[in-house]
Amino acid sequence: MCGIFAVSGHKEAAKLTYLGLYALQHRGEESAGIVSFNGKKISCQKKMGLVADAFDQQSLRSLEGECAIGHVRYSTTGSPSSLNIQPFSACHKKGNISVAHNGNLTNINILHSKMEDKGTIFQTSTDSEIIAHLIAKPGRNNIKAKVKHALSQLEGSFSLAVMIDQLIVAARDPSGFRPLCLGKLDQAYVLASETCALDLIGAKYIRDVGAGEILFIKEGKIESVKLNKKSKSASCIFEYIYFSRPDSNIFNRNVYLARRRLGEELAREYKPDCDFVMPIPDSGNCAALGYASQAKLPYQTAIIRNHYIGRTFIQPSQLMRDFRVRVKLNPVKEVLAGKKVLIIEDSIVRGTTTRAKIKTLRQAGAKEIHMGVSCPPIKFPCFYGIDFPTKSELIAANKEVEEIRNFIGSDSLHYLSLEGMLSAMREAEFDFCAACFTGGYPVEIPNNFNKIMLERGG
Ligand code: 5GP
Ligand code: MG
Repeated sequence: MCGIFAVSGHKEAAKLTYLGLYALQHRGEESAGIVSFNGKKISCQKKMGLVADAFDQQSLRSLEGECAIGHVRYSTTGSPSSLNIQPFSACHKKGNISVAHNGNLTNINILHSKMEDKGTIFQTSTDSEIIAHLIAKPGRNNIKAKVKHALSQLEGSFSLAVMIDQLIVAARDPSGFRPLCLGKLDQAYVLASETCALDLIGAKYIRDVGAGEILFIKEGKIESVKLNKKSKSASCIFEYIYFSRPDSNIFNRNVYLARRRLGEELAREYKPDCDFVMPIPDSGNCAALGYASQAKLPYQTAIIRNHYIGRTFIQPSQLMRDFRVRVKLNPVKEVLAGKKVLIIEDSIVRGTTTRAKIKTLRQAGAKEIHMGVSCPPIKFPCFYGIDFPTKSELIAANKEVEEIRNFIGSDSLHYLSLEGMLSAMREAEFDFCAACFTGGYPVEIPNNFNKIMLERGG
């Protein structure tokens, strides 16, 4: 999970990147960084924390030049470290190389040990550093050939923005796991993980970067090159279910409408006797709307979200056991008291926050609480960039639906079936990766990969 943004050929490149990262904040809250190039040298600002806290007037002013790339990071594994903040930058005689990466390289261990055997030392444990090293490797003279050769050695998932002096490179892995799109603002080209970032700066969406495509952007010109590896399309279906913003279009489809369809499909499968349907905000909102319209049930927003909490550093005390949930979400007792309610949640991962939310709804006086989930049980870890933990932490990997219902404390529980989910998405032009539900991993995973990811902490 991460968000990337890049600008080529605009006087305010870094400021636009800053705004772009603002729109992509949901893709990573751990750290934020921008690197720019002013024709002579690169400037870099990176910090732990949210975009709003990572930059100020002065640091933005120091990011000179007409080219910039930026990154927001959500560390998928390991402990947060300021060393791992992206973009990663390195000097090379062909130019300064900076890399912003979203995804997870599955052959990182092999690449790492090969390079270490040849004497390479690494500063960080991120995929981005490996990519910079691969580009810098001797052999090919032309920078584009170097980039193509480097990217063809990567396996797993990557959506990338690379800046080599004033050359901006965008690329997606051959399966197209993670999104990345191209836009235009005046004469400048813009790259973003999601279209909501283009909207914010008033850029026009041009197209998605294709799966297995590399774009070289320089001085207003774009060249497209294909990676030689062919692969079946496997765009991440969970981007639609939870991760992307509903106002984005990813993989050529709007996320809000896709979520509505998932909710409608859920209503065809599951209709407990209820007074009204309500979402767990915000991630359940669109699916709950779809559900309510299909089931012709009233829609209530009986949990109100506090939008101003940011990150809470206050440690919950014994007096406030459900503090983390309560500070963010507060139920409206007057709406809930004595009612049979159906809550719609986009997904259950560990089950712990869902359990806490149901408890607060009971305390608020709900008589019956039924729960519909707009995706199937998540039974398998994700190795392509979504923060799904090891199997032991995934509740559905270890419990049957009835046991999960018992754990979260609802009166009934229904997960959207796999067929229902796929049927809701059937108009898509792409095949999806649904490995977290099925265990069918489209790109091979090394045996001990889980352990590798945890150890590397990247
Ligand atoms: P749980 O009950 O499993 O503790 O939490 C489920 C909630 O986590 C859901 O509201 C869902 O929107 C949210 N969620 C789903 N996937 C992810 C993820 O990858 N990371 C985080 N932080 N939350 C997620
Ligand atoms: Mg949620």
